[in-house]
Amino acid sequence: MSDIKLIVLGSPGAGKSALIVRFLTGRYISEYASNSECVYTKQMNVDGRLTGLEIYDPCSQKLSMSKELSRADGFLIVYDISRRSSFVFAKTIICSLREANVRMCRRDTEAGLFLIGNKQDLCHMREVPQEEAQKVALEHRCHYYELSAAEQCQEVNDMFTTIVRNIILQNKIK
Ligand code: GDP
Ligand code: MG
Repeated sequence: MSDIKLIVLGSPGAGKSALIVRFLTGRYISEYASNSECVYTKQMNVDGRLTGLEIYDPCSQKLSMSKELSRADGFLIVYDISRRSSFVFAKTIICSLREANVRMCRRDTEAGLFLIGNKQDLCHMREVPQEEAQKVALEHRCHYYELSAAEQCQEVNDMFTTIVRNIILQNKIK
């Protein structure tokens, strides 16, 4: 099986890079300077099977990179629970992706959408109730997670593992 390709989208500052770096290195880097597109690779063990993973961090809000879009197995759409505007933007992304009905070239199945509320450690400044995000996820057939790249290393790992497992299963069924 070829590598699984994930694309991470969302408002600038939502914590996309922090989540990716946390997953890849186990560390939280609070200032992650990156203005260019990045592709990260990782081999991971999912249920005893070695799986290659490619994570694409576009570092740009344009959804026009159609080549990348069509090659994705899954989209991680990240917002900041303490910033409503980032949630509104996440909804716009989800709608665009659903409208585009993005399909993977290689497998002809619909790519998985994963809505991720980051910065749960800032819940005292919460602007997006969990129930509201859950509802949006349900409406648009997204998987939904809420966590903190800053404080929850294990949860971030578990989430990526669950996402990859999900994609593997989905590809098998079709
Ligand atoms: P990106 O633009 O979406 O890639 O966002 P970054 O990963 O660069 O993060 C933007 C800012 O949010 C940085 O200052 C991070 O330190 C901060 N940040 C990222 N994740 C968290 C988190 O889980 N909790 C808190 N409190 N801050 C976070
Ligand atoms: Mg970034």
